[in-house]
Amino acid sequence: MLTKKLDIIDADRCVGCLSCVFACARRYGEGGYDRSAIAVRSVAGVEKGFVVIVCRACTDPPCAKVCPTNALVAKKGGGVFLNPNKCIGCGFCRNACPIGAVMWDEAANKPIICVQCGYCVDFCPHDVIGIVERQTEGV
Ligand code: SF4
Ligand code: SF4
Repeated sequence: MLTKKLDIIDADRCVGCLSCVFACARRYGEGGYDRSAIAVRSVAGVEKGFVVIVCRACTDPPCAKVCPTNALVAKKGGGVFLNPNKCIGCGFCRNACPIGAVMWDEAANKPIICVQCGYCVDFCPHDVIGIVERQTEGV
């Protein structure tokens, strides 16, 4: 099946402006970046550049596998769906993600999961991130 997902197009172009981070948090109508599903970190000082960390929409997501309550379930075509009502805040999913892309809502004590909406893309002034189509197994 053909699915659309957020992807890092060219991390070398990132200037660390955090526009994507703030844009994602605004999906909740909030300022700041406490509830953003995407993170930007400096590698080792501003001159060395930045890494953009966001869910890569795994087709076999390790975060969903370790969830003891099925609050996180794998979506067809990649990525995960979060049912916050089932989440007990154990943090297993956060520890299971190999790239640290399960962000954490400290106030709610629940994960923040990228829903692959692409809202952040339009706010990146340097086309670091984009929505790409991906062919995956399944109908
Ligand atoms: S924190 Fe919530 S979503 Fe994550 S593994 Fe635990 S119950 Fe599942
Ligand atoms: S695709 Fe949507 S949910 Fe994912 S980081 Fe961008 S704005 Fe946030």
